[in-house]
Order: sequence, then C-alpha cells, then structure tokens
Amino acid sequence: MSICVYLWIHSVSHRRPTPLVNSGYISKNDTFLDNYSVAYPIFHREKIDTLLRNYVNHQVDDFLRTHDSMQSLDVGLIINYTILHYDARTLSIMFHETEHMASRGEVRTQTIVTYDLQKNSQLKLTDITKDKPLAAFLLRRILHDYFQHLTTESLTPDELTQLANIKLEDMGQFVLDDDALILYLDPREPTSQQSNVTVSINKQLLSGVLDDAFVEASPSQTQRTIESSTYAIDSLPAHELITDLSAKMLALTFDDGPGVLTQQLLDVLNAYSAHATFFVIGRQVPTYADAVRREIAEGNEVGNHTWNHPKLTGLTPSELERQIDDTQRVIKNATGGYTPVLMRPPQGAVNSLVSSFIHSRGMQVQLWNVDTLDWLDRDAQVVYERIMAGAGDGRVILLHDIHPTSVAAATRAIPELISQGYELVTVSELNRYRP
Ligand code: ZN
Repeated sequence: MSICVYLWIHSVSHRRPTPLVNSGYISKNDTFLDNYSVAYPIFHREKIDTLLRNYVNHQVDDFLRTHDSMQSLDVGLIINYTILHYDARTLSIMFHETEHMASRGEVRTQTIVTYDLQKNSQLKLTDITKDKPLAAFLLRRILHDYFQHLTTESLTPDELTQLANIKLEDMGQFVLDDDALILYLDPREPTSQQSNVTVSINKQLLSGVLDDAFVEASPSQTQRTIESSTYAIDSLPAHELITDLSAKMLALTFDDGPGVLTQQLLDVLNAYSAHATFFVIGRQVPTYADAVRREIAEGNEVGNHTWNHPKLTGLTPSELERQIDDTQRVIKNATGGYTPVLMRPPQGAVNSLVSSFIHSRGMQVQLWNVDTLDWLDRDAQVVYERIMAGAGDGRVILLHDIHPTSVAAATRAIPELISQGYELVTVSELNRYRP
C-alpha cells in the first residue's frame, strides 16, 4: 500500500498568498494483520489541526475495532484527502476512505467535513441558517423538485418522499463556496455518509435563509471545485413568484366573484405586483370569463366556491357533484385548462362527506383565519381597518370582490401592506412557505 500524493490546488490570483499546508501521516504496516495509511492536512492552526487529527484517529479506531472484533485478516485502510474550500471563514475537506478486505474487495467512501475557522469547530448546516424551518423547507423543495426532474426513472416514489422529508440536521455534507452552497448527497439515501451527487445552490437565493456572515463572498484560497456530478441551481423552481422568502407573507382571498368590480381589483393588484386568491362562483364564470382568465394570467390563484353558493353540508352526493364538478369544469373551459386545487365551502361548512368528496377531486378545503365581515359592514374604512388589524405573517384574510366597499378597502390596504413589508401571495404559495 502506498500513500497517494495530493496536489494542493491554489488560486491563480497572485494577490492571494498560497497558504502553507502540509500533510501529516499515520500508518502501520504488518504482514498479516490490519494495515492502515492515513494522510491528513496540517494548516498550522493548532485547534483546527487537532480537530483534523482527531477525526482521522477516530476513523482508524473504528476500523481497528470493527476488524479486531471480526478477527479478520488481511484488511487495510487508506485515507487521503482533498481540500475543497478554504477561506477566512470556512474550511471544507473531503476525506477519501478505501477499505480493502481480502474476502470482499474494496469499499470506498467519501466524507466531507466543514469547519468554522473563527469558532474552531465543525460546522453543521443548522449552524449557518438563521431561519431553520424556512431553510429546511426551501432546501427540501429545491432538492425534491430537482431530483424528481433529474431521476424520475430511477427513483421510486418512496425514495422521492424520503428525499422530500430530509431534515436539515441530516444534510451533513456541504461546502460554502464563494457564491454557492454545495450539498453532497446520495439521492437514494440522502442521510448516508456517502454521496454521489453534488447540488450547488446560488447563495443569493438563500439570502433570507443563511446567516448573513455566511452569505458574503469571502475570497477562496482554493480554485472552485467543480465535479462532473455538480448541478448548479441558479434559480428557484418554476412558478416561483415570490421575490423575498424572508419577508412576511399573507394571502388576501376574495369570494363570491367574479363580478363587475373584479377587473378593477385586478388593476390594483397588478399595479403593485401583488397576488390574491379568488374563490369563484361557477354560475358567474361564463359572464366574467375575461376576468377569470386575467386572474390566472397575472399570477393569482383561482379556487372553487361552488356553482351557486349553497351550504354543502345539506347536500346529497349527486348535488355535491353538480356544485363542485360543474364549477371545476367551467373554470377549466374559461381558462383553457386551469384546474383549481383549493375549495372554499360557503360559510366554511364541511362534514366528513363533504371533505372526502373534495379530497376525492384532488382538492383541499381552504378556510381563512381573518374574517373582515365585509359583507355585513359595507363601510370601506371599517373593512380597511379590519384588514390592517388582522394582518400578520401566515394570515389568510377573507374578503368579497362583489362589494364596492370591499374593493375600496383592498385598494387602500394593498399598498399599505406592501409598505409594511408584506409579500401578498396566493394561498397555495402561503401553504408552501408557511406550512
Ligand atoms: Zn361565499
């Protein structure tokens, strides 16, 4: 067995000093028993060097313990390393480990360890994220979309689900490059220590998610490591209308339209690049088909609010079919194929028959958590005040776009909410980002 020689790849820029890095070695050569040859980098920074030495010693101990207990003969371990990234803040090393066993051949693994050079400790993904639920959600979603797109043929639905549910704590292997967060993953076993896919995500996309100290580009002292299996993600998944993921979000919802005032409301939403969700009455759709088409075309969401607004809990299955299916059909026809995924039952009334009917149509029941009572108090000032009082991150606000007072109140509230820092999003977007 021999120790491989590793080249230190340094920056081509002459202004950056080449850091002094040496290799340390530990090895044991016996004719019959377990052998090992281990190389690790020495940065001449006492605390980091100790962590690195401890890491390889631990790997050797594990190896010896496993093979001593198995009384196995003729086994060997080689560890060598590549420096993936080294800047003022972080250091990432890939350790390549090969175990030889006479009976089983070679087993190769690669492990990436990232260190915080200011705190002299190993870095976990949870240490570099300031909004952990959002980070977990966003990374899962990016990865899920990505792998689904990439490997639909080779991954089973179970494997995709596993990938979609991966926890931040389990995404152990990553590098913070100059401008990307690079995750090293095995799509078949995302939590495993082995990885065969690297996904690099533009750091600017994660600016609301990563700790600011780790978003800033810090000049790397290594050349950017690009592997053949690296996939770069420079934009969020398709249909992304939200510009700032760290902003407060709320969803305005308008029921009982479309009507004569709907286009006027769309003008206001469009002027502020705001989006809303319209729960429409099927019977009115043919008359105001232009408004419904415009709702979709301008990035709003359209939901089903029955054919003519009965309370659904008193209906038979065939009446439910007419109320719900006919409305889906008329929306689909008016818009050239758009199919709502949200159903808002009149008065919010559901029972188990109604909700299982809705689910059987691939829809979910969507209620609200702020009721402006705008149908009762036809006073634009009062309705405006209720919108503003009810505003909050993750809120779903109920209004009706058939009352002039409600449209007037929304016209005042929309710019005011935006100036208070809200992203006005659709209900499906809200459900995605504030699950
Ligand atoms: Zn209604």
